[in-house]
Amino acid sequence: MVITEVRIKLMEDNNENERLQAFCSVTFDDAYVVRDLKIIEGTKGSFVAMPSRKLTDRCPQCGSKNHLRARFCNQCGCKLDEDRATRDADGRVKLHADIAHPINSACREVIQSAVLKAFYQEKERSKQPGYVCTYDDFDSDYDGPATYTQVVSEMGAARGYRTSSAHSSRTNQVQETATREGKQTDNFGAGIF
Ligand SMILES: [Zn+2]
Repeated sequence: MVITEVRIKLMEDNNENERLQAFCSVTFDDAYVVRDLKIIEGTKGSFVAMPSRKLTDRCPQCGSKNHLRARFCNQCGCKLDEDRATRDADGRVKLHADIAHPINSACREVIQSAVLKAFYQEKERSKQPGYVCTYDDFDSDYDGPATYTQVVSEMGAARGYRTSSAHSSRTNQVQETATREGKQTDNFGAGIF
């Protein structure tokens, strides 16, 4: 496995979370991209946090899902136990789960060193006039295949397949889910804060 590209989106100095220094995406073997990694300023230097999602649990009264930090149910308003999140061995509350992550320290080291190297280069580049960030931001002018449906149809075209109508209605569902998830990306934050 080789990291063939790292793209960095530097945060403004005055962003609301001072410890968040950048978002980034990592491409493996020119074939697979993982987005929404974060570069965080820690006490022992910068480190890389894997993409994560907020954990939820179900309301005991109505069964709706709520974020673990929610004090009242979003659906029925029922008061929730404020201390219901599980804790790790160090006693820290576990509010997020990694979506993609290395399973050994050698891989973590490969990713972290490639990302931090790209981060420092990007900071230098950003001082130059006409600097343009290369991180694909889906909210602005991403020019690749925009949706899962497009990706599937491009793959199908490349292999000479035809996408059936049954298939495309399923992919539309996936696309809707992806859009909903996408809207939540501003609620960033990993368990390490
Ligand atoms: Zn409820």
